[in-house]
Amino acid sequence: MDKCTYCAGGPEADSTPAEYAKYGANRLAEGKLPICAEMCSTKSLLAGDGAIIAEIYKERVMKRGYGSGMWGWKTAYSDSPTG
Ligand code: SF4
Repeated sequence: MDKCTYCAGGPEADSTPAEYAKYGANRLAEGKLPICAEMCSTKSLLAGDGAIIAEIYKERVMKRGYGSGMWGWKTAYSDSPTG
């Protein structure tokens, strides 16, 4: 199993045959997001500008609550002493 490259290729120069042979596509060099973030059907994985992502998470927390009041917490941690 290969390690996650964050879809950013490796130390070789961007978009070169050497990079492609080792790491496949370099999505970030192509101006794209990591494929897992793009394909995440629940939008749990986000990628991009940190300030925008922070705003999205802040909005989610404000809407859903946090800690033991967080949406889905009791389902995920029903045996937890804090759940
Ligand atoms: S798709 Fe996601 S997990 Fe896979 S290499 Fe890209 S960033 Fe890493």
